[in-house]
Amino acid sequence: MNLFTWFNHHKLKFEILAVILSLIFMVIGGLTSSLSISPIFWGLAFAIGGFAKAVEGVTKTIQEKSLNVEFLMIAASLAAFLTGEYAEGAVLIFIFAVSGVLEEFATAQTEKALTSLLKIAPKTAIKIVNDVEQTVEISKLLVRDVVVVKPGQQIPADGVIIKGGAAIDQSSITGEFNPSEKLMGDQVFAGSIVINAPILVQVTKDPQQSVVQKMIQLIKRAQEEKTRSEKRVSLFEKIYVYVVITLSLFVIFLTPPLGWLTESEAFRRGVIVLVVASPCALVASITPALLSTLSHAAKKGILIKSGRYIELLRHINVVAFDKTGTLTTGKPKVVECVFETKVDELRLLPTMVAAEKLSNHPLAKAISLHFKDLKNIPVELKEIPGRGLEVKTKTDAIQVGNFPFKATAALEEKFIKYGREGKTLVNIIENGVLKGFIALEDSLREDSKVAIEQLKQLSIRPVMLTGDKKETALAIAQKMGIQTIHAESLPETKVTVVQTYTSQGKKVLMIGDGINDAPALATASIGVSMGDGTDVSLETADIVMMNNQLQNIPYLIKLSYATQNIITQNVVFSIAVILVLLISNLFGIVVLRYGVIGHELSTILVILNSLRLLSSKKKPLRI
Ligand code: ADP
Ligand code: MG
Repeated sequence: MNLFTWFNHHKLKFEILAVILSLIFMVIGGLTSSLSISPIFWGLAFAIGGFAKAVEGVTKTIQEKSLNVEFLMIAASLAAFLTGEYAEGAVLIFIFAVSGVLEEFATAQTEKALTSLLKIAPKTAIKIVNDVEQTVEISKLLVRDVVVVKPGQQIPADGVIIKGGAAIDQSSITGEFNPSEKLMGDQVFAGSIVINAPILVQVTKDPQQSVVQKMIQLIKRAQEEKTRSEKRVSLFEKIYVYVVITLSLFVIFLTPPLGWLTESEAFRRGVIVLVVASPCALVASITPALLSTLSHAAKKGILIKSGRYIELLRHINVVAFDKTGTLTTGKPKVVECVFETKVDELRLLPTMVAAEKLSNHPLAKAISLHFKDLKNIPVELKEIPGRGLEVKTKTDAIQVGNFPFKATAALEEKFIKYGREGKTLVNIIENGVLKGFIALEDSLREDSKVAIEQLKQLSIRPVMLTGDKKETALAIAQKMGIQTIHAESLPETKVTVVQTYTSQGKKVLMIGDGINDAPALATASIGVSMGDGTDVSLETADIVMMNNQLQNIPYLIKLSYATQNIITQNVVFSIAVILVLLISNLFGIVVLRYGVIGHELSTILVILNSLRLLSSKKKPLRI
């Protein structure tokens, strides 16, 4: 860790210490005001209190090549010092430093909440021990361990493929979106995602590092990505700072020759302009509010990957729900196993189950669990998201899942009957002919219905997007109170549906859990993933609900409104204070002291107002 990162790491502590020291020196300065050494104490208070902000101001000036409020404040207090108004200069810097501490506090809170959120949801990998799958935390993996990575899952650690081959999406590492084919012996990297077939990977590098790295990256991104209104304010800051400087210089240098003010009075008022017109409060109006909201959501078990989505949430008109794993628990149970003949069952069921064991789909997991005593046979397969599995055998093409088929009348009748009952069917198809199916029943998430009701109250339209059959989708949509369904959607159909709504001028929030949802999550204005969704959806999503509760969606939308309210209050208040002080100064009513206090207190009030959002205890949020 170099000195700079070390300093940043302990920034809050340093800033608090500086504020306390600055306060102590101000008190001494005040007590010794009749003595000639008093300015020394005020000077110390000034230097210590202003240090952090000065560093910040200089860094920002160099980085952005333009002046900023930090610069204005330092200039104003220096000017106050030069005119012998020591106390005012020191107090100005002191309160400014306090506002810095408060901002830093919001940042630290967010960091803390996000870190603990990620800690309670450790990522896992499937380790192979004596041919048996074992779920372990990634951080517990060791070099030389062998893991199986199924379609949709993230490769947990850098390693080498020792069995199988698959298309792998390495975009999170290389930025290249086209998946690349990797075969046995090829190296693969932690964080890339396996798309279409299971592979065995032997770990070659300690995964601990990459997990920590990932966490830091996520948190940094959440805090640093600027929202639209933040960008607007920072652009405003850049321009406005020059306006203030010009105005102040005008008052100082041009009013005396024009005969409006005496030179000393011009200087005094010029400094006041510098202080009161500075947009400190305005600049502090947005970021702390967004950070507090990020932190609030994290405490509720919701990871928002950037403040940008907080602003977007209140504009959402359509919420598109995936069905399996999102509206339903994604923990289905096998209820029936139907085959054309007993012979077919004995012949095909073992292949079907062996294939499902290598898939990460919720239906596959349920089937593997139900038939766990069935003897395992080796199979080779490809997974097609939204459809299912294709198994290669020497003579036949076998498909498991939702593929087009021909069927006998008797079997088709049963197929339709189970579908109407809302059951999900996994078919086994041999050379294009339906041979049988497994019917599964998935329970609805308890809070799905309430969540949908709350969305409707917010005038948001819920729709369902599912890869499942129309009959099944309808049965479930009816129970949920969803009127619009898009059934039998392949991953690219889900994208088209989202795009259609978008082209009608709607803002779409899509929420899903599977590899088949990932493209739509990326297309939607906001993509939300269930916490126990596949890695690819967790990666792609903008918001992850670690606690898997759908009621989070209406909650977040209300939170977005509440945040916007606070931001509006802040902006209006800070502009009002600036105007009142500036106009009073115009008439010479303000003395520097009150200018300083009025202006700086407004900054602190604005930040404190934002920190109200931190509290996640107060339930009903105002809209
Ligand atoms: P949803 O969009 O509702 O989450 P999916 O697209 O994941 O549903 O699945 C849709 C259908 O595709 C399922 O009903 C199932 O028939 C089939 N399917 C997809 N993947 C698999 C798999 N691994 N095993 C069996 N069936 C699958
Ligand atoms: Mg799903």
